Amino acid sequence: MPQFNILNSSHCIAPATVIRGEHAWQEGMHLVGSICRKPIMVGRSNATSLLRKNIFNDLERLELRPISAELDHDCCEVDLQRLHSIALSKRCDGVVAAGGGKVLDAGKLLAHRLGVPCITVPLSASTCAGWTALANVYSPEGAFHHDEVLNSCPELIIFDHGFVRQAPARTLASGIADALAKWYEASISSGSSSDGLIQQAVQMARVLRDQLLIDGPTALRNQDDPAWARVAEACALTAGLVGGIGGARCRTVAAHAVHNGLTQLQGCHQMLHGEKVGYGILVQLRLEEIIGGHQLAGQARRQLLPFLKELDLPINLEDLGLAKASLAELQEVCRFACREGSDIHHLPFPVSAGGLLEALVAAGDIGSTSSERSQNRQKHNDLSEII
Ligand SMILES: [Zn+2]
Repeated sequence: MPQFNILNSSHCIAPATVIRGEHAWQEGMHLVGSICRKPIMVGRSNATSLLRKNIFNDLERLELRPISAELDHDCCEVDLQRLHSIALSKRCDGVVAAGGGKVLDAGKLLAHRLGVPCITVPLSASTCAGWTALANVYSPEGAFHHDEVLNSCPELIIFDHGFVRQAPARTLASGIADALAKWYEASISSGSSSDGLIQQAVQMARVLRDQLLIDGPTALRNQDDPAWARVAEACALTAGLVGGIGGARCRTVAAHAVHNGLTQLQGCHQMLHGEKVGYGILVQLRLEEIIGGHQLAGQARRQLLPFLKELDLPINLEDLGLAKASLAELQEVCRFACREGSDIHHLPFPVSAGGLLEALVAAGDIGSTSSERSQNRQKHNDLSEII
């Protein structure tokens, strides 16, 4: 027996086939017919209805017999059970999910429960949900409930740049924050792992972060710049790959736990997933600084603030729509984020709801100690220093 056993791990690393590029749908749609003949097509918003209609018509032209189904809410049990009945009664043999993260999660989970393959067509770069073998389940009102690990990644992902360009810029900024979290969460949960695959996933998260810091602002300013494709694919594809290679131990920590807590409040339901996760990164860094005693975390937080601000991402409770939130509501966020089994407990130090409340309120503060100020004066706005 070797002295250093690695516990057995199972990974769903990636979709079986990835088609990406300017006209990826045109190039890849014929593959849908090799996977299923009668897919249920899942979508939601009015903003994507024309795009989804075109996709539906293309599938019919390929002599498939798609069934169209609309979600009424985020990925929630009420919708899932309704669509499950429709898919069974129509004898659907696959799922095509076209939309943002919650639509993609609903499509994957529906396919998982039906035991049929899933094809994802992301219509924004707001999350890596089109890639992963995970789905978040929410209440019909949008409060996070739990996540479910699926048997596999989607069979096929078609990431069509032309489709994704039509999404509002805000979705890309949100995707950047969500993908940035990969580094901040993986490095704290798995940075000292002795498992080579996890070490490599953490380094990939660091490279991903660097690319987003360098290219993110350009991508948001100009969709025609090559930086746009790099950033959109980093958010929607690479972020999923990091989670796939790193596995469960390399995934979410406090930033996503804070997101899950924030979704409990009606006041920030209009905020996108990554917008809440981005604030969650600031909260996590504050926790690492104050409770964990990591000086560098404080520096990293103060350096991340101007980047998030430049991307118009929330950096305080007011930006999150919680200016009028009561103390009781903020306590509810913290209780939920600190509930038993929450990913926040993957931090290498204990966090109570009271400790989290302090960090939640102060995450956007610029203040620093005088010694840090003198050390950091030269570096403060240098994004390359965010480590
Ligand atoms: Zn996320």
